[in-house]
Amino acid sequence: MQNIPFLSLAAQHDLIRDELEQGFRKVIDGRRFILGEEVTSFEREFAAYCGVKYCVSVGNGFDALYISLKALGVGAGDEVIVPALTCAPTWMAVSMTGAMPVGVDVDARSFNINVNQIENAITKKTKAIVPVNLYGRPAALKEITAIAEARKIFIVEDNAQAQGAHLDGKKTGTFGNINATSFYPTKNLGALGDAGAITTNDTDLARKASALRNYGSSKRFANEEIGINSRLDELQASVLRIKLRHLDQWNHERNLLAARYRVGLENVSEISIPADPRNGRCVDHLFVICCMKRDQLRSYLGKQGVETDIHYPVPPHLQEAYIPLGHKMGSFPVTEKICNSILSLPLWPGMTLENVDYIVDSLQKFFTRKEL
Ligand SMILES: *Cc1c(COP(=O)(O)O)cnc(C)c1O
Repeated sequence: MQNIPFLSLAAQHDLIRDELEQGFRKVIDGRRFILGEEVTSFEREFAAYCGVKYCVSVGNGFDALYISLKALGVGAGDEVIVPALTCAPTWMAVSMTGAMPVGVDVDARSFNINVNQIENAITKKTKAIVPVNLYGRPAALKEITAIAEARKIFIVEDNAQAQGAHLDGKKTGTFGNINATSFYPTKNLGALGDAGAITTNDTDLARKASALRNYGSSKRFANEEIGINSRLDELQASVLRIKLRHLDQWNHERNLLAARYRVGLENVSEISIPADPRNGRCVDHLFVICCMKRDQLRSYLGKQGVETDIHYPVPPHLQEAYIPLGHKMGSFPVTEKICNSILSLPLWPGMTLENVDYIVDSLQKFFTRKEL
């Protein structure tokens, strides 16, 4: 029997251990620990990687979303469109500005926001749309851009799960007026703690975001507006600079593992897998399958030594925190059905094709074994 954890960063870290330790020493011996040279270098390098003019690093992905929305002037009385299938921070960043998150159901094939339902959700109060590139798979960003331009609303991409993905030759996280990403340790590009970033081509928005992360100050002891403290530290920036150099290779490994899963599961009719977008490249942040017997399958895999997870078992609109919005079961039927049937399988750089084959074998056994 193989024991396969849902996620392990050990292989990644072994590969770059010496570089990381060298980086730590440099920071220890340096003079600045917050917003210093490592941070400035990382911002320059990540902007170049994404193909945007500006990167403003922040403390985490939630703050990246919150500050992006604040930079656009989103606040009380505004509405912001968000996909129903996402994790809570996408909705909560909107709520924290004082605006209302307006959910839109996802597409049953792509699992990303259903562009045909966005128009219906737009009102006079709608200020922005926050598309999420879920599981490393680009949302229909071209169609969303067309809607946003026609209706004069902003786009803030939530690219927390898709660093390195692209659509029509353009990296995700660059389609919005201003875009947010997270470097939470489990993301495709992860720090050794909390970290996040904002990317934009808009000089004014970059300047605003940069002030908002530091008490609304762009000049020492001058506060132009009310801001928060969400600064990246030198240690995390040092880690991110090193890992950024490996991101394409690690994403490539993710693609190979996902392709192996796809081939292996092709003939398992009980399992369905979200469809890839045309003209796009996914970065397989998670490998998610749908199966009506999800809970039995999960416990069977557990007994075979295969650890799994669910992203997400309860969507934001059914969370206790969002009871005041008045949603109920049935508000977003596609999302709810997905949440009841999805299962995330192990997928991480360093995992082997033999691991995938073992998991595929176990899945096939589950469906062909005699019902007990
Ligand atoms: C991880 C994640 C966030 C939040 O990022 P943190 O760094 O944990 O605050 C937001 N949106 C999505 C889609 C995420 O996956």
